[in-house]
Amino acid sequence: MGSEDLVCASCSGLVIEGRCPTCRASREYLRRNSVTISPQLILAILAIIMMLTALAVRHAT
Ligand SMILES: [Zn+2]
Repeated sequence: MGSEDLVCASCSGLVIEGRCPTCRASREYLRRNSVTISPQLILAILAIIMMLTALAVRHAT
């Protein structure tokens, strides 16, 4: 599994492109942990990001 293919839950762009703050935070995290990070951990992080994004959207409206 390559972290290059991760799609952002916030802007639907590739995380590595860094189109939004969520992308940039995720990309930075992946870069720092690219050696030791596991796919399971990536999925867990993405689930948390998606949950936070959903909450943010709800608060924004
Ligand atoms: Zn994004």
